[in-house]
Amino acid sequence: MFRFSSIEEFHLDLEQEKTSCVAAVDHYLKAIESSRLNAFIEVFAEEARNRARQLDQQKQRGSLHGVVIGIKDNICYKDHQVTAGSEILKDFTSLFSATAVERLLEQGAIIIGRQNCDEFGMGSTNENSAYGPVLHPADPTRVAGGSSGGSAASVAAGLCMAALGSDTGGSVRLPANYCGVVGLKPTYGRVSRYGLIAYASSFDQIGILSKNVKDAAQILEVIAGPDDFDSTALQEKFSLKIDNEEKKYRIGYFPEWIHHPSIDPGIRRALELYIEELKNQGHQVSPVHFPYTDLIIPAYYILTTAEASSNLSRYDGIRFGKSKAVPDQDLADFYSTSRSAGFGKEVKRRIMTGSFVLSSGYFDAYFTKAQKIRRLLKVNITLIFNDLDFIIAPNAPAVAPKLGAAAADPLAMYMGDIFTVFANLAGIPAISLPLLQHNANLSLGFQLAAGEQNEVSLLRFSHQLMQQ
Ligand code: GLN
Repeated sequence: MFRFSSIEEFHLDLEQEKTSCVAAVDHYLKAIESSRLNAFIEVFAEEARNRARQLDQQKQRGSLHGVVIGIKDNICYKDHQVTAGSEILKDFTSLFSATAVERLLEQGAIIIGRQNCDEFGMGSTNENSAYGPVLHPADPTRVAGGSSGGSAASVAAGLCMAALGSDTGGSVRLPANYCGVVGLKPTYGRVSRYGLIAYASSFDQIGILSKNVKDAAQILEVIAGPDDFDSTALQEKFSLKIDNEEKKYRIGYFPEWIHHPSIDPGIRRALELYIEELKNQGHQVSPVHFPYTDLIIPAYYILTTAEASSNLSRYDGIRFGKSKAVPDQDLADFYSTSRSAGFGKEVKRRIMTGSFVLSSGYFDAYFTKAQKIRRLLKVNITLIFNDLDFIIAPNAPAVAPKLGAAAADPLAMYMGDIFTVFANLAGIPAISLPLLQHNANLSLGFQLAAGEQNEVSLLRFSHQLMQQ
């Protein structure tokens, strides 16, 4: 018999021989086969089965023994294809594994497949994937969110125990929010970026989607830590024990966000009620003035497109990416033909925007200015966390959009990231917890952010809230 509510419970069942790794893998393979969400781009069925068999024979057990994990299709796994949801990388096979994947495997995890995502992580609805959108598990007329849409939908629909996603501006928290699962974006550098296909390197961070906070903490312990292959990875080792403590915290919220004109009244109301509940529980919850709301989306989209235009230059059809060359083309035309055919519309838009903001004559007006805003924001956020433990905030202005609704207006889609990108601009950890009730009967979460490198308190408090 196989059931899953947490890694801890699964391990207990294994110990008492109520289940096996093979039973777990078979269960998920069956679930994936009958699901119609388009959450996986590829399932490693035979390989996962073989590994489960091997793990069942093994005496020694790692901390993630038999844990069935899906990985977003922008995380490299040696000898497996990886496409970042893009046509340009179709049929590309990884020559090495991401550090995070290596560490999962060392601890006995089973990688069950690669999950659908927006192309190069660019998007909020998973509709920018060359492999089609991911459907919302509770309402197939809606999107699962993006860019880690396949990972969030899989965890929500019970297609794997947990998943790795990546969060450059909200891509773990946003789909977690729409699908009703936990989504953790750690501090920038907490998890090595080695083997994560780059979108915007100073923002990118591997994150975790899971059913509960303890699982996320347990996985983070495994994948975090210094790495010789990523000089931006934090040097500190990360460890954390979550117990059932009941602590009182100092929590802040930005009234500008809760009353933001873009926010759905149902979400505003749900969040206001939750804040009242936190006060009733004895936490100190207070409003904090945040004067940068209007600056964060422009700053984020200038800096990330600039970094993307540089990062994506490697896909030239020669070093990386499929070539679509035509005979007798010169080199510039060769690049142009391959890149035009291989990249989707949104990726092209961002490469062009990024090249523009970096071009001489505009560099200071856009890129330098956005860097200054980022600095200002970081200083301000650091000051805020001198007096507070957490910020509570909405994840998104609205519930999961209907399929096709976002494509018509890219600017509106960018504005939808208004509440998540601040954590990436500032490099701080943030988590989405599926704890709000929305009147449309769709799952809904809120965000909790903590000071840089303070995942320990963030996860402890999140666990405390999830237990209630
Ligand atoms: N929606 C944001 C963007 O398109 C976030 C993406 C992400 O976090 N990868 O840039």
